[in-house]
Amino acid sequence: MAGELVVIALGGNAIKQAHEEGTTEEQILNVDKTAREMALIIKAGYRPVVTHGNGPQAGALLIQQEESRDHVPAQTLAVCGAMTQGQIGWMMQNRMSFRLLEADIQRPVCSVITQVEVSEDDPDFKDPSKPVGPFYTPEKAQELQREKGYIVREVKPGVTNSWRRVVPSPEPISIVERESIKQLVEAGGIVIASGGGGIPVKREADGSFSGVDAVIDKDRAGFKLAQDINADKLMILTDVEKVYINYNKPDQKGLDSISVAEAEGYLNDGHFLAGSMGPKVQAAIRFAKWSGKEAIITSLDKALDALEGKTGTHIVK
Ligand code: ADP
Ligand code: MG
Repeated sequence: MAGELVVIALGGNAIKQAHEEGTTEEQILNVDKTAREMALIIKAGYRPVVTHGNGPQAGALLIQQEESRDHVPAQTLAVCGAMTQGQIGWMMQNRMSFRLLEADIQRPVCSVITQVEVSEDDPDFKDPSKPVGPFYTPEKAQELQREKGYIVREVKPGVTNSWRRVVPSPEPISIVERESIKQLVEAGGIVIASGGGGIPVKREADGSFSGVDAVIDKDRAGFKLAQDINADKLMILTDVEKVYINYNKPDQKGLDSISVAEAEGYLNDGHFLAGSMGPKVQAAIRFAKWSGKEAIITSLDKALDALEGKTGTHIVK
């Protein structure tokens, strides 16, 4: 099939707005808006493979596991990853199918429950970096550490009751279902894959994979997906139209097109926050270096404009 193959990584705001509670209705409405944007991109001739985050949904599911522990067993973090992938994947395939039908585009849409291989030797297992789920008082946090073996940390030092469970966020090594994804894409399908960064798994001696309790960064996994399916472009959609230097300062400046070397320089100078813009720029750098082609970071509503070079931040080799 003709048309550029673009891995599109959707941020949290594509599914739940910051001010919302996160009801089913709210999430479906947001996903529907996202689906309209995806339909425009498909109509313009691009072939998107869509991936997405799951932070708020996984956080909510973890609360449900905690609160119902006296009645039913709490599921593991790997299972929560699978459940949220299914949840969001369904919403996306449901709304994207409809928006394509409405635009008179005959393309099958499906999501692939995706496992992503990680290494047990990843340094993040020794010093977990990713906070998940609810905030606790120090007493509750200590109790969970004793009784459940959670690793807990005060995530906002000095702020009362800002203790949270932290989990490892290892580097993705490979997308286990890459062949299935490739074949679906080659057959003309619109595929949603590696949601929430993928379900982390480790390879066992007998060749099987088993679940790992970790959360992979969706932007890093998005790059892996792009690499594994040989994509022409990586586009990361979030809630800002451009990446800025001196972000939120009086002299902040939006970046239009930068080289990998420039991006690395800004990254080392601390212009991009570790838990938010940092991994996006890192993923974009990796993609541009690996492919020799461009990666784009922009907002959801500017996606098509950015693909056409009219806006967004473009990172090129
Ligand atoms: P997503 O859910 O899309 O991954 P994040 O909140 O993790 O969203 O990342 C997007 C956020 O990154 C923006 O809303 C912005 O507040 C923040 N950010 C940090 N540094 C920068 C920067 N240098 N330029 C633009 N945005 C930045
Ligand atoms: Mg993020």
